[in-house]
Parts: sequence; C-alpha cells; structure tokens
Amino acid sequence: MIYLNGKFMPIEEAFIPVLDRGFIFGDGVYEVIPVYSRKPFRLAEHLIRLQHSLDGIRLKNPCSNDEWRNILEQIIANNDGEDQYLYLHITRGVAKRDHAFPANVSPTVFIMSNPLPQPPEELLKTGASAITANDNRWIRCDVKAISLLPNVLLRQLAVDRHALETILIRNQFLTEGAASNIFIVKDKVLLAPPKSNLMLPGITYDVVLELAAANQIPHEIREISETETRMADEILLTSSTKEIMPITLLDNHPVGDGKPGELFRQLHALYQEYKATHMRGQVV
Ligand code: PMP
Repeated sequence: MIYLNGKFMPIEEAFIPVLDRGFIFGDGVYEVIPVYSRKPFRLAEHLIRLQHSLDGIRLKNPCSNDEWRNILEQIIANNDGEDQYLYLHITRGVAKRDHAFPANVSPTVFIMSNPLPQPPEELLKTGASAITANDNRWIRCDVKAISLLPNVLLRQLAVDRHALETILIRNQFLTEGAASNIFIVKDKVLLAPPKSNLMLPGITYDVVLELAAANQIPHEIREISETETRMADEILLTSSTKEIMPITLLDNHPVGDGKPGELFRQLHALYQEYKATHMRGQVV
C-alpha cells in the first residue's frame, strides 16, 4: 500500500504524469525513515530535515507535521513487517516543461514502505570495504534532493570494485559517503566532520554523537583531512538503513589492524540499546 497525492493504493495502481518535474528535472526532495516495531525512529528529526530540504528548494511543505504523522501511521499499519523503511518523496508537481517554477501547481507527494533489511551479521563481524573518490557533487549536499545522479555514479564505483561504499573527499577533506555519513577514530577519539553545506546532516550521525556524549566517549567535531582518513585506527559508516558499520578496508589497504575496532563495538552496542528503548516507546 502506497500513498500518492492524498490516496492510498497498491503500488501497481500508482502512476504519475510524464511532465512531473521530479521526472523532468529531478526537482524535488525526499526522506528515508526507519521504522522499528512499527514505530518510526526519530520522526521529529526527519520532519525537521524534510522542512530544511523543502526550504532549500523553495517548496512549501504540503502537510503539517500532524498530517505527516497521520499518513505515515496509516502506511505503516497497511504494510507487512514490524521493521520497515519509509520513503517519502515530494516534487514541485506537474507542469509544462520550463526550468522556472510554475505558478499554481500542487506538489506531487509519494510515500512507500519497504521491509527494513537487517545490516548483515557477517559484515558487522569482519567489517566492510570502501573506496575513495573525489566529491564532485553540487555544494548544497545538506538538501536531500531527489536529483542523485552524482551519488548514483559514485556509489556504482564502489559496486564495480566490490566495495560497500564510496567515501568522498573534497579539497583533501573527508565529506561523507555516497549514501552515508563517515566518522573516523584516532587514538581512541571519535572524529566527525562538521555539518555544512557539503554533507547531509544524517539522523544516524546525530544519534551516534549523542550516544558518544552521553557515554563519555571522547569525541571531536572538526574537519578531517584525507591523510587522517587514510591513517585512521577505525572508520565508521552510518545511515538510517545501515545503522553503524565498520569499514576495515579502504582502497584495498587495511584500516588500523583491519578488524572492527573497540569504538565500533561500543557504539554499535549503544545504538542497539537505544533502538530497544525506542521500541519500548520510551523515546519518541
Ligand atoms: N549522506 C548521504 C549522502 C545519504 O544519502 C545518507 C542517507 N542514505 C546519509 C548521509 C545518512 O543519513 P541518515 O543517517 O539520515 O540516513
């Protein structure tokens, strides 16, 4: 069961006109929200980020937060699985092809749910491999835009080389992954690149930093150079669907001793504990 422009329907019955500006220009934004035990995780934060993305493309939010909550509740109830991930997509709507914004057009709103895959146990034990590439995206990476062509091409580089993710470097500094945020660990200190227009402010990134702060894990938010990334003791990848994963091979060189490290183990356990608290309804 999906949601399209005010109606719930099976996905096979959902169609959009070819002149939708999402199709023509990639003119829209999206969110991905994990659901555990049928409860959306960090929903308030996802809705704040959605508003930031909409502001970034000058598109009015078509729903209030209460309306979003209500629609998402119905989608969750009408899809299988205790754990799901919601994909919410808003475009500037359907209009005659012209780059400039159309007048008096309603946005297209599409929401679907898919089963949430568990991060593979094997990769958590051995760690995953990543490659690096030059971050050649635009400079509003803080907007979760549906126009993802650079991310698609960068992520495919990783797939071509049998790696999990492409880690992006801009002007000799680490930004993020093609579809994730990246942390490094050096001398037992967790290092996170600062939020800016050059990276997506990850919801999982925030959770990890909150967990570090609450559990006296030494951490610092500051620019991380490419060299520091290559010399890291640990590299951690975060995203809503992958949660927190260790990167143990970078461009075919072992990261630290080539095994998932102590801070990964600690933060992964804390993340699972936090999720369990959320599932018991003790965190909204
Ligand atoms: N950066 C990029 C480019 C992403 O696409 C994503 C989400 N897939 C993230 C970071 C991680 O964000 P979140 O933790 O909110 O999923």
